[in-house]
Amino acid sequence: MQLSIDLTGRNVLVAGAPAAARQALRRYEAAGAVVHRLGSPGEARFVHLPERLFLVAAVEDGQSGWDAFLDRCRKTGLPVAAEPAGGPAGHVTLVGGGPGTSDLLTVAAVKALRDADVVFYDRLAPYQELPLLTSAELVDVGKKPGHHKVSQSEIEKLMVESALAGNNVVRLKGGDPYVFGRGGEEVAACVAAGVKVHVISGVTSAISVPAAAGIPVTHREVSRMFTVVSGHAPLTEKEHQHLAGLGGTIVVLMGIGTLHQLAAGLRRAGMRADMPMAVVERGYRPGQRTTIADLGTITSAAAGCSNPAVLVIGEVVRVAEANQCHAGAAADLDRLAASLLGS
Ligand code: SAH
Repeated sequence: MQLSIDLTGRNVLVAGAPAAARQALRRYEAAGAVVHRLGSPGEARFVHLPERLFLVAAVEDGQSGWDAFLDRCRKTGLPVAAEPAGGPAGHVTLVGGGPGTSDLLTVAAVKALRDADVVFYDRLAPYQELPLLTSAELVDVGKKPGHHKVSQSEIEKLMVESALAGNNVVRLKGGDPYVFGRGGEEVAACVAAGVKVHVISGVTSAISVPAAAGIPVTHREVSRMFTVVSGHAPLTEKEHQHLAGLGGTIVVLMGIGTLHQLAAGLRRAGMRADMPMAVVERGYRPGQRTTIADLGTITSAAAGCSNPAVLVIGEVVRVAEANQCHAGAAADLDRLAASLLGS
């Protein structure tokens, strides 16, 4: 969390043990304050208060003995603000950032960001809003000067080194860390280096991006299962057959590059050419766009589509169309349900 108050040029005294006070220090520095330090109640006993002090930030560092000093401050009319202590340092938290809007961050994610010293983030995470959520150092590992992506092993090395140097590291990832997010590898890298690590689940794009287009991945009497597939590489013939045979919703991430092979493969596996299909691009972001077609026509309909996008194949796509075109028109919905049941 950042302080929303402008403290440019104001004298602020931050009282608290160094480890506990590090985040409060960063917050006040980021707000423009001239920061003075007191690390222990012992030091406080003999200190002269800086002139024209604006505020005393009292970090709840667990040390006893601050009371006398804080009372002295209050008696001189100084405001005293209680500051939470920074979390334990030297560990890594993998945080699922959701599909790209801070509205879909979890409470645990917001808390982890607030307590972080360093945040390594991806382009799919809600990175634009990070400066409002944390005073941590922000490191973009999705892109580097020269536009080369930081490699996975480099990311792992950076994370581990930063934690070993004593930082509270957040690795912020798009969606959920364990859904095509290489979260498992990053956890393993931390464990191998003896760095404590834990994972905070996030809202996956596999469910939330279809939802942004009004598409429920399951719907009573329409689809009772959904399969989430990576389209990073083309599927095998056997996989096409299995998917076509399931009869449920198919959600594909990273599927734009292999859309043509997927549509052709599902057709060969016997899926109907008029099976509804949607491509939802840039969910929850400026320029969000939904393209609806069917299995037979999607390749040409989605020719102009680009990543990031989620593909949805299945009758649930019609539910969205109906809900959007006929919002509130119960009769139409009933007719739709009847037609879906009949098909
Ligand atoms: N761990 C992530 C997925 C990482 S793979 C999650 O759980 O969501 C990256 C793919 O996710 C993209 O190629 C795209 O298919 C999908 N994706 C993530 N965010 C998206 C968004 N805002 N809009 C559309 N697709 C998105």
